[in-house]
Amino acid sequence: MLAYTYFGKGDFRLVDKPVPQLACDTDALVRITLGSICTSDLHILHGSVPRAVPGITVGHEAVGVVEAVGEGVKTVKPGDRVSINVETFCGDCWFCRHGFVNNCTSPFGGWALGCRIDGMQAEYVRVPFADTGLTVIPPSVSDKQALLAGDILATGYWAAKISEIERGDNVLIIGAGPTGICSMLSAFLYAPDRVYICDIDEARLRFVAAHYPDAIPLRSEEVLHRLGAECERGGADKVIEAAGTPASFRLAWEAARPNAVVSIVAMYDDPQTLPLPDMYGKNLTFKTGGVDGCDASEILRLIAAGQLDASALITHTYPLREAPAAYDLFAAHRDGVMKIALDCRNASAQANENGNTAIKMPI
Ligand SMILES: [Zn+2]
Ligand SMILES: [Zn+2]
Repeated sequence: MLAYTYFGKGDFRLVDKPVPQLACDTDALVRITLGSICTSDLHILHGSVPRAVPGITVGHEAVGVVEAVGEGVKTVKPGDRVSINVETFCGDCWFCRHGFVNNCTSPFGGWALGCRIDGMQAEYVRVPFADTGLTVIPPSVSDKQALLAGDILATGYWAAKISEIERGDNVLIIGAGPTGICSMLSAFLYAPDRVYICDIDEARLRFVAAHYPDAIPLRSEEVLHRLGAECERGGADKVIEAAGTPASFRLAWEAARPNAVVSIVAMYDDPQTLPLPDMYGKNLTFKTGGVDGCDASEILRLIAAGQLDASALITHTYPLREAPAAYDLFAAHRDGVMKIALDCRNASAQANENGNTAIKMPI
């Protein structure tokens, strides 16, 4: 099968690999229909994910059809159309039982797929802990609608959940990329008064204005003035920082009203400084970290009910055999790209026709 594979820093290649086999009775084998590219894949490409194992197939966001399951798998069966979770988790350890599945203590727990074990930019994937890692997609939900449910939409849903948004809140989302927009869509589920979303990129603000008329897009430099003038309590009640720069980190606590919740879900390249003397008396609650991806069935239920739809974010589709070109576009933010769907169906046959199963990834 065709698999987009990490060889080392700056080096992803399409290679032929054997179709994976079940290794454990809690595994499932899934035939991928659509996969996606995530910024975390670029972090692996750039060598900034030390635990990524050379030789693994990348990709951790996909939907597919179950081909086979081990004897211990109870919740899915061959033929089921499923969303695949970014995180694999045992469901049984202390962290899993408390919903903190990102910190599952199993050796295969947390972000393993497409990082430490073979992932989903391929024709097939072996999914450990299939009972918790796979979720059947409701019949009325398309593959494209479900594609982001396992990672980026899970992240936005989790960000809104941990932010404790209440009816009537003013919410600020920093960063109008895919994570920020998924956080914004999820924030609306809590009936806030206003949801502001800011970015330094005018094209992303235009994307928000075109697709999400209920949101209030702002340029980052307008935020303090606008929120100070419009929010009754002098700032945002809840802030979700999804941009990941020193300036956005600072804006997150500056734009918050006293006693606000500030959720930091962005990934930073460098340590950030909390200037505690400047914020003394503001009494903020900070929450930080990476998604606990255990809400896929609720997310898919909300999609089926028409209450959550992130599919507008999928601005481009490429066949898997053109993964290098897709990465190139995604990394360069060209052509208004937000998210790219990789069509993984019959990828080997397509690649053989074109004779290009081993392409060196440029950096
Ligand atoms: Zn991701
Ligand atoms: Zn666990």
